[in-house]
Amino acid sequence: MQFGSRASWARLATGVCLALTAVGCGSPAESGGTAASRAPQPPVALQAAALPGRPAMLPGRAAEQEDSALRAGADRVLTERQQAESARDWGLDSVPLTAPPAPARKPVLSAGAHVTRVADDLPALVRRVPTEDRVVFLTVDDGKEKDLRFNRMMRELGLPFSAFVSGYLARSDYGYFRDLNEQGVRVNNHTVNHKDLRRLDYTQQRAEICGQQDELEREIGVRPVLFRPPYGEYTTDTLRAARSCGITAVPMWNEEAFPDRMEYRQLDRRLHPGDIILTHFRGTEDWSGSMTDMARQVLRTVTEQGFALARLDDYLG
Ligand SMILES: [Zn+2]
Repeated sequence: MQFGSRASWARLATGVCLALTAVGCGSPAESGGTAASRAPQPPVALQAAALPGRPAMLPGRAAEQEDSALRAGADRVLTERQQAESARDWGLDSVPLTAPPAPARKPVLSAGAHVTRVADDLPALVRRVPTEDRVVFLTVDDGKEKDLRFNRMMRELGLPFSAFVSGYLARSDYGYFRDLNEQGVRVNNHTVNHKDLRRLDYTQQRAEICGQQDELEREIGVRPVLFRPPYGEYTTDTLRAARSCGITAVPMWNEEAFPDRMEYRQLDRRLHPGDIILTHFRGTEDWSGSMTDMARQVLRTVTEQGFALARLDDYLG
């Protein structure tokens, strides 16, 4: 069955919910992906999840040994044990939830409340990826702070994020971003000089966007398909220029993360399936904490609300 593994994951997720807490769990139908699964849910009590080899991730495993999704789940047990140790090491109260397998097909980006299509042939602007998976995406911008502990934390926890790098900030140490790329973090385009693109004409915008494509290719060996304009500001020329050098989607954001708080653009102040979270490569010069403090805050929020971090590239681009 085409989406068999994803349906199975939904069963697994429902099992997790039932095993961990009686509060705030969706019905199997909801977990299978109806519109109701998009509704905000109360925090899930996850302290039990901090125990190595937690049985909650494997409900009905013995009865479904042949199910490919559960075989994938068995693979995850080892990872979760390691995750539990890493979570303790990094000062987390709970083990982050594991994202479902990547979708077989990337979602269609139709215009809607959280997707803007200026024109059908231009890259879509996306604040929330259309998905019913209980996943959100962490995106880290600019490149001023190059915090090796943050990279190590995310690597040891096995958690994905995406970088959007501006050349003038990255240039002091592109090796940091090369390492991230080798770690499996996709390094995307955030322009050469981080200017407000609305103030530039088409040719100048093209130099900012396509110039950064060239710089990333030269420095890291990647030519990304995702681009984010500085300050989230753009014109139609921005999208035309981006398309001209290979950009296929423009992720924006619904939340911004700091070491001490999450700022929500939605009035309900909750995460929703597919939400994109913005944060920055910043440190104590700009923030009240470090990048690892920021990551702890994000992971606490994401896990409490019953979400997993997923890989943006699996869904977009
Ligand atoms: Zn920026």
